[in-house]
Amino acid sequence: MGAKLFVVVPCYNEEAVLGETSKRMLGLFSKMEMGGLITPDSRIVFVDDGSRDKTWSIISELAESEERISGIKLAHNAGHQNALLGGLMTIKDECDCAVSVDADLQDDINVIPEMVKKFSDGCDIVYGVRNSRESDTFFKRSTALAFYKLIGAMGVETVYNHADFRLMSRRALGALAEFPEQNLFLRGIVPTIGYKTDSVYYDRAERFAGESKYPLKKMLSFAFDGITSFSVKPIRLIWSLGLVIAALAIIAAVYVLISKLTGHVTSGWSSLMISIWFLGGVQLLSVGLIGEYVGKVYKETKQRPRYIIETYKK
Ligand code: UDP
Ligand code: MG
Repeated sequence: MGAKLFVVVPCYNEEAVLGETSKRMLGLFSKMEMGGLITPDSRIVFVDDGSRDKTWSIISELAESEERISGIKLAHNAGHQNALLGGLMTIKDECDCAVSVDADLQDDINVIPEMVKKFSDGCDIVYGVRNSRESDTFFKRSTALAFYKLIGAMGVETVYNHADFRLMSRRALGALAEFPEQNLFLRGIVPTIGYKTDSVYYDRAERFAGESKYPLKKMLSFAFDGITSFSVKPIRLIWSLGLVIAALAIIAAVYVLISKLTGHVTSGWSSLMISIWFLGGVQLLSVGLIGEYVGKVYKETKQRPRYIIETYKK
């Protein structure tokens, strides 16, 4: 018996690609159904993320004419991550597993059968990972590399060269539903879920029509969001800086006292120097200490599940 598969596709102003995308997906679904990999009631779900062009009218036409296509329309532009989560959470109880993929098919949907096979073999999460980034511009490649490095250094666990192209089983989706956080960074959240995971590899293609919806500004804010919604390391840096300054204050004090004893200083200079260094260190350490508490509050407010049970044998 095949799996009941739902493919969720967030779409923002994607009128230029939807026709081709749905055609390719339907072709793939027919093949997978014939191979017995998926059930006939598997679905492709397009999520319109408050587009301003004809995206929704195209989706609703497709949903009416094609039995395998459904559409969800968000009331306003909620952003890629929210649109994706909205789609996944809407269908999570209807499917055995769900694959998320971008509307422009830069991620190769021909590896979806491989993902589904791994799901049938017992995997709960299957990551789509890019082999190479040759099709991306030099700029996109180097900024992306810098992004993964930085985010790794900040202690956020992510899968290298994996974007939001992944399969999740129904129970993994159930676990995802337990993360009520507002600042959504799915690439960071999903690896914290656990369960049996695996990866499939593919070459990333170029966007075949339309334009990227992620200009530099959005990319930077995405990276910043990713770090600040996962890591308290930046706060710890303040504390370490405070320690360094406090250590320097001691060295400065020794230097100032020696200068004073050898008598080459204007009056008032020594006390000023010592106070500046000492107070600088004390202030940074205090801010760092307050930051520790702010970090704790931030972790509490996220209300993440503290554990996820995989099996319970009675
Ligand atoms: N997207 C969305 N809401 C937004 C921006 C983008 O749903 O506010 C969707 C978009 O339609 C596409 C996916 O997110 O399906 C990824 O966007 P894009 O391909 O433009 O990003 P890139 O591949 O250039 O990083
Ligand atoms: Mg793209």
